[in-house]
Amino acid sequence: MSPARIIDGKAVAESVREEITRRAAALVEAKGVRPGLAVVLVGEDPASQVYVRNKDRTAEACGFHSVKHTLAADTPETDVLALVDRLNQDPAIHGILVQLPLPGHIDESKVLRLIKPEKDVDGFHPINVGLLTTGERDHALVPCTPAGCLVLLKRTLGGNLSGLSAVVIGRSNIVGKPMANLLLQESCTVTIAHSRTKDLPAVVREADIVVAAVGRPEMVRGDWIKPGAAVIDVGINRIPAPERGEGKTRLVGDVAFEEALPHAGAITPVPGGVGPMTIAMLMANTLTAARRQLGLPEEEPLF
Ligand code: NAD
Repeated sequence: MSPARIIDGKAVAESVREEITRRAAALVEAKGVRPGLAVVLVGEDPASQVYVRNKDRTAEACGFHSVKHTLAADTPETDVLALVDRLNQDPAIHGILVQLPLPGHIDESKVLRLIKPEKDVDGFHPINVGLLTTGERDHALVPCTPAGCLVLLKRTLGGNLSGLSAVVIGRSNIVGKPMANLLLQESCTVTIAHSRTKDLPAVVREADIVVAAVGRPEMVRGDWIKPGAAVIDVGINRIPAPERGEGKTRLVGDVAFEEALPHAGAITPVPGGVGPMTIAMLMANTLTAARRQLGLPEEEPLF
């Protein structure tokens, strides 16, 4: 069998960003309004700082109005809630993203529930979760990472995923559950596997589509993959790389990439697969949120 096609997430993300930039410019032209994104970071977590900086930069590059709020790690919960409340009322802000995780003294779900559902560009508010679950995806804001995975799958397999068997490994609210719901809406036969799943290799071997969102380096082995399956690797794991020099590290996914290559039909690399799609879909959600708040019709969906 020929080796897997490698899915170029960077290139797809770039094409999505270009489309969003075009659409945002058309909105400015028609209504004089720039989509507005506010990103809130509490604390100094280095990974979160990088994510927030990238989100801010990408928003600016897409022609958005972008605002970054950086708060000290010991900011009281009431101050964070007050900021979210202010952003909820601000007509120049159409999307609010509170970078997770929040410091331990802040109740994450309290903060996420305060964000107006129509400004909830992460798609984590129970209203958006509910809309996705009841099959009203097109009225929801869908979490960015699973939305990005679906774009990659559709661009790889064509628009019609109906009847394919899909296994999602991981049941988090951020990735696994919304991914499973999206695939269900595409009429896939969906299995959600998790840490208590018995005989995971046998479950994965049934799948035409595998989405791995676990956070365990190279857990999914090559011989678990059904010949020709599409493999979407969401995991981002940093592991020691002594071959690159003392103390060096490298990023790997949840799938043993080299091992999977001869089995899979298509596979995302890490880095350069799902990662770039997450930010691109955040831009798409912000534009969607802005158009809805302005009472404008929906545009052609990206997935
Ligand atoms: P999480 O820790 O919230 O959830 C992990 C899930 O994996 C859990 O549901 C758990 O049941 C399951 N799991 C744990 N051990 C398992 C095992 N041995 N077998 C089967 N399932 C097992 O993580 P998350 O937030 O969903 O993120 C998962 C991974 O995706 C992480 O590596 C994270 O860094 C990455 N991630 C990447 C992006 C991106 O933009 N590419 C975005 C979000 C998360």
